[in-house]
Amino acid sequence: LTPKQIKEHLDEFVIGQDQAKKVISVAVYNHYKRIINNDDDIEIDKSNIIMVGNTGTGKTLIARSIAKLLEVPFCIADATVLTEAGYVGEDVESILTRLLQSADYDIEKAKRGIIFIDEVDKIARKSDNPSITRDVSGEGVQQALLKLLEGTIVNVPPKGGRKHPDQKFIEINTEKILFIAGGAFDGIDKIIKTRLNLQSIGFKSSDEKVVNDDEENVLKFVNPHDIRSYGLIPEIIGRLPVMCHLNPLSKDALRDIMTVPRNALVKQYSRLFEMDDIEFTITPSAIDYIVDRAFEFKIGARGLRTLCEAILNDAMFNLPSSDIKELKITKVYADQKLQNVDISHLKAVS
Ligand code: ADP
Repeated sequence: LTPKQIKEHLDEFVIGQDQAKKVISVAVYNHYKRIINNDDDIEIDKSNIIMVGNTGTGKTLIARSIAKLLEVPFCIADATVLTEAGYVGEDVESILTRLLQSADYDIEKAKRGIIFIDEVDKIARKSDNPSITRDVSGEGVQQALLKLLEGTIVNVPPKGGRKHPDQKFIEINTEKILFIAGGAFDGIDKIIKTRLNLQSIGFKSSDEKVVNDDEENVLKFVNPHDIRSYGLIPEIIGRLPVMCHLNPLSKDALRDIMTVPRNALVKQYSRLFEMDDIEFTITPSAIDYIVDRAFEFKIGARGLRTLCEAILNDAMFNLPSSDIKELKITKVYADQKLQNVDISHLKAVS
């Protein structure tokens, strides 16, 4: 598969995010070239990836879609639960247990899998001052991750955790595993703006106009220095050499996400109702209404699904046992259903 073909595949599932899709297509292409490279003189470095972008903008979706396309095992590791070995929490090795499970314990397959490290921003160093208490869930985890990212042989407890002390360890070499890290890096926009000198009064940086034209999206100027200022150690950043950003989703993008991708929400619900011989339709103004509500929550596309579930729950509960064979969702219908449910928890997240 060429990078273009990889991107075309991503286009079927992921709306927008062109820059990220392009960068990642190339990184993935090079990663698998590296694996089949048998020139001993020229060793190709790993192209692990770091994605910076708000929650719900498609980071996990991109990683998952790549794994599906390549038919390699895939797992998501939540960086927030990891701690330095010996402390309460999960050891970094537990990530490999999960990959092994998703490969059905086929070690050879697992060795070529993709691991998505979610919320990597949450293991940022807690402060610049060396403190009395150890930073076991911050810098400690970063140190533990280093070796994994670069490529090393790890003894993996196949069942995970410390609950099974008798199990035999399985050796896994991480050299051919592709790591994709993602994080929202809340507040990094301030770091970027400061670097670009956008906050100093009376001083105009050459980038200022560009940024002001696109106030929403200073993220596109993100570079490794910003990530470092945020609290990732330079060694980690060095091992995630491919960097890309994801744009905040506009209302247009949200509308497309509802209807366009191969498994778009509207298509999924159509299919669900079709299985009960019910014809499902939704009016454009109902879609706009859902998009507007989701946009307010500032959690990217995450709100769309929750809103749809809330709106459709009554119908999905009642229709299968009724004679009704048609369901048309209008703006009025959607609004009415949302009055009856509590979706305030969505707002709390943002
Ligand atoms: P995150 O960036 O937080 O990892 P996810 O990739 O998990 O976000 O996306 C959350 C949900 O929103 C998923 O159901 C995904 O399908 C949908 N989604 C997010 N961004 C996009 C996008 N750009 N195109 C299509 N669907 C998207």
